[in-house]
Amino acid sequence: MSPPAPATLPTPDADSEKFWAGCRAGHLSAQRCPVCARFRWPPMEYCPFCHHRGGDWIALPGTGTIRSFVVVHRAFDKAFDDKVPYVVAHIALDGADGVIIIGNLAAAPDAVAVGQRVTVEFRDAGPVALPQFRPV
Ligand SMILES: [Zn+2]
Repeated sequence: MSPPAPATLPTPDADSEKFWAGCRAGHLSAQRCPVCARFRWPPMEYCPFCHHRGGDWIALPGTGTIRSFVVVHRAFDKAFDDKVPYVVAHIALDGADGVIIIGNLAAAPDAVAVGQRVTVEFRDAGPVALPQFRPV
C-alpha cells in the first residue's frame, strides 16, 4: 500500500506527540495514570478517571485482538479510492487494559474475524510512521 496523501496524515499534538514518537521508534505505547494506574485512550492531559494531570507512557508489545471491524467499500477521501476495499478495525491492545485503538488491517476483508489476533507494523509515511495491523 502506498503512503497516503499528506492531507490525510495525522498531525501530532501536545497530547499525542509521544505516541507518534513511539511509532517512529517502532513500538506502540499508551498513557497510564501514575496515580490510579489506569490506561487511557486517546491521549489527553488529564486522567478521565481521577483527574490527575499528566501520564506515563508505557511501551506495549504491539499485539492485540480484533473487537469489531468494518470493510470500507467507498473511500471517505479520494486519497483512498485506490485502496478499497480495506478493513478498519477496533483492536484491544495487549498490555493496556481498556485501550481499544482504531486501525487499518492489512488483510483481505474475507479473512478477518472478531477475536482474531493481530500484530502491529509501521509504515513510513514521511512525517509520521503509521501503525497498521496484520493477522498473526
Ligand atoms: Zn488516574
